[in-house]
Amino acid sequence: MVDFSLSDEQTMLREMAHEFAASEVQPNAAKWDRDSSFPREAIRKAHELGLLTVKIPEEYGGYGMGSFEEVLICEEIGWGDPGFATASGSTMLASYPVITGGTEDQKQRYLSKVANGCIASYCVTEPGAGSDVQSISTHAVRDGDDYVINGSKMWITGAGHADWFFVLAYTDPNAGYKGMSGFIIDADSPGISLGKKEDNMGQRCSDTRSVDFNDVRVPADNLIGGEENNGWMNAMKAFDLSRPTISAHAVGNARGAMEESLQYANERSTFGKPIYRHQAVSFMIADMATKVEAARLLTWQAAKKADSGERNTLEAAHAKRFAADMAMEVTTDAVQVFGGYGYSEEYPVARRMRGAKVVQIFEGSSQIQRLIIGREMLGDS
Ligand SMILES: Cc1cc2nc3c(=O)[nH]c(=O)nc-3n(C[C@H](O)[C@H](O)[C@H](O)COP(=O)(O)OP(=O)(O)OC[C@H]3O[C@@H](n4cnc5c(N)ncnc54)[C@H](O)[C@@H]3O)c2cc1C
Repeated sequence: MVDFSLSDEQTMLREMAHEFAASEVQPNAAKWDRDSSFPREAIRKAHELGLLTVKIPEEYGGYGMGSFEEVLICEEIGWGDPGFATASGSTMLASYPVITGGTEDQKQRYLSKVANGCIASYCVTEPGAGSDVQSISTHAVRDGDDYVINGSKMWITGAGHADWFFVLAYTDPNAGYKGMSGFIIDADSPGISLGKKEDNMGQRCSDTRSVDFNDVRVPADNLIGGEENNGWMNAMKAFDLSRPTISAHAVGNARGAMEESLQYANERSTFGKPIYRHQAVSFMIADMATKVEAARLLTWQAAKKADSGERNTLEAAHAKRFAADMAMEVTTDAVQVFGGYGYSEEYPVARRMRGAKVVQIFEGSSQIQRLIIGREMLGDS
């Protein structure tokens, strides 16, 4: 049976997330963006409200809820600000491989840290390998009870504030994707150095850096799952869980732009009437609304399937591709509705448009999502 109604608990969760986004995120987002300042205090507040750890199992201090509850919250946070959404979301991306593939000891040690409010980062991309994950060159060599890690990661969200990293590295470089392993690496391990904060086009409050690993020793206990060469599956399963949340961020960002456009179009008059009364403008806003609704349904479908325990790779790719492209279209149209004022930073739509762009690039670009969808349709995964 298909049922789009929310339970009382889900409604309450969504309202709490909305209230937080309205009071703590929206009023500060322009300043964070202008100053490129990391919203550490607001992340701490969101964590205290329980908004960032709903998916951490209860036995490790989280709330043990599903992806569906998570996407309800993520939409509101994306509505607040796309940069805050990414800055506050990196920790769960790093945590998913531990949730799905970690040993009991790893979950106890690292998920409980997340439940206590620490930040973590997901380190897969490298200077020479983004979409083509198999081209990474970071490698891990066993040495006694440790692994020694060498390599450079690039574009790592939250790296400057992280307590620990999920790191994908080759343990068997000759075995292609079957030779990759995932490691949990404490951020204060000797041999780690961070690059400067990247000067990004949008989402400027989010901290993005390179992370270099130079002979970093990691206890073998931190090999995720305790077995070598499961890293690829682990990293990809993390995407199946994270893509619905990224889609929800995009839906929220687009919804915000749509609501702001609706309000502005009723206030701004040209040729003797509010611009909303010009059909060209109201149609643009009507199309925004339809796109937001459609992307939300794809997002909910991907999250529901994850919660059912079934593989949701196809649904997650549909949601991520559509929501990311949709948010870019909707926020660009929002700038159009605002005319010259949309092109300035006086209104939030410019920040929303700049913030929408990266969602078409990270966590698998829109092209890569189409590649996944094509493969899944052929049963060729
Ligand atoms: C702000 C930001 C934050 C990020 N955060 C993280 C993070 O926390 N952790 C992490 O590991 N990574 C992170 N990334 C990296 C991100 O995931 C990569 O940038 C992304 O995967 C694309 O890789 P690339 O930049 O190397 O581009 P490339 O892979 O070089 O791609 C360039 C272009 O070619 C297209 N393309 C590539 N291959 C194909 C193909 N086979 N078919 C069709 N088109 C193709 C791509 O879609 C893209 O448009 C972040 C990136 C940014 C910008």
